[in-house]
Amino acid sequence: MIEQQRVTRYLQFSHLSQFSELAHGIFTRHGGHSQGYYEGLNTSTTLKTATENGDKIANVIRNRKLVLSSLGIADYPAVSVWQVHGADVATVTMQDGWRTDWSHDSYYFRSWEPAAVRKADALITQEREIALALSFADCTPILFYDPVEQAIGIAHGGWRGTARGIVMATIDALQERFGCQPQNIYAGIAPAIGPCCYEVSSMVRDIFMGKQEFDERPIADQYRDRVRKSAQFTTVRMANGRESLRLDVQGTNRGQLLLSGILPEHIETLEICTSCQKEDFFSHRGHAGKTGRFPVVIALRSRERVQL
Ligand SMILES: [Zn+2]
Repeated sequence: MIEQQRVTRYLQFSHLSQFSELAHGIFTRHGGHSQGYYEGLNTSTTLKTATENGDKIANVIRNRKLVLSSLGIADYPAVSVWQVHGADVATVTMQDGWRTDWSHDSYYFRSWEPAAVRKADALITQEREIALALSFADCTPILFYDPVEQAIGIAHGGWRGTARGIVMATIDALQERFGCQPQNIYAGIAPAIGPCCYEVSSMVRDIFMGKQEFDERPIADQYRDRVRKSAQFTTVRMANGRESLRLDVQGTNRGQLLLSGILPEHIETLEICTSCQKEDFFSHRGHAGKTGRFPVVIALRSRERVQL
């Protein structure tokens, strides 16, 4: 018998690692079962390219299970959403019937229709022993933890979600649903594309600045001011003299955290560009759209298992 050891490599935030009741990980693409464009630890089932029809479901499910076992939470159900670059926040409770398990094979056989999956770009919960999982390739992953109210969250901030204020919507939801105070919340900004590699059109800047609006799902009025104030654009002159407009999506999300009352000492940014480090992370830009998605996961352990 041959046993394959597929060892993952993942990062953690220093400030979240001090909390023994938390499990969390930002996974590189290393390890895992996927092949081809998705080689390594791809956790998205819905990728398609002109020449490929997506990753093999069986490999994605094995990768997702590998992610949970790497964090020592293989027995936890893991919840996800259909990420649509909006600013809706889904609250996960034991009563919810809108989503089945991220890592459970039978879900994909019994209910393949993506409509069965809730659309949102952030997840929050106070439930213990349930993992929240989203997948990324350049968009900003943001993790949240309030040790006072024992609430966790995860958000997906690409340029559209960031322009719609997904971070602010997540903090509002933590406040409204669980009574979290912003000054108690810890936030972590995981690897995403950096301004070194993220050229955007002037339309993107116009939307952040309020000079243009999305055709659908416009920016909520209460976030417009903070979206404009947080926006971090720079211009780089290229060798051929062309001006290249760059968005710092990690810095913009950090700005929105600060404008929402999160303390600077509670924010940790890993300051990794996924496109510069495309050997380690799936990068939509870095791999010209032919790539997988890497997972970011957070969970609250059971009280009994917390090491005091
Ligand atoms: Zn870069």
